[in-house]
Amino acid sequence: MKRTYTCPACKGVLNPENAVILRATDEGRQMLLGLHPEPGNYELYIPDGSELPPGSQWRMGCPVCGTDLQLGANGQLCLVHMEVAGESKQVWFSPLAGQRVTFVVNTQGEVELFGNGEDIPEHLPFEFEL
Ligand SMILES: [Zn+2]
Repeated sequence: MKRTYTCPACKGVLNPENAVILRATDEGRQMLLGLHPEPGNYELYIPDGSELPPGSQWRMGCPVCGTDLQLGANGQLCLVHMEVAGESKQVWFSPLAGQRVTFVVNTQGEVELFGNGEDIPEHLPFEFEL
């Protein structure tokens, strides 16, 4: 199924091909990161020679306009927009390496959860702003 991911700030398309491209920055380091476009698939594409150690906290930004995507739950979740089958959705995900938590929210406010059972909080960590 074709999914188009866009930046919530500049509307730039983040997946020109398959992977969703984000800018990841850490203290003094930055790289482009590719995420699998299917929610719940946590395959990552990172540059040769780079590492994303489990538990490391990266800032995720839009590679087009530079906007920081860490918008929810006091910066504990990142937001990108997704168009799929003509429907607009919000995709929230954890920027903590190794934490597999993704929330997909449609315009009716219905939430789908993806990720590891033990990583998914019992209660949603924040109010969705739609
Ligand atoms: Zn942008």
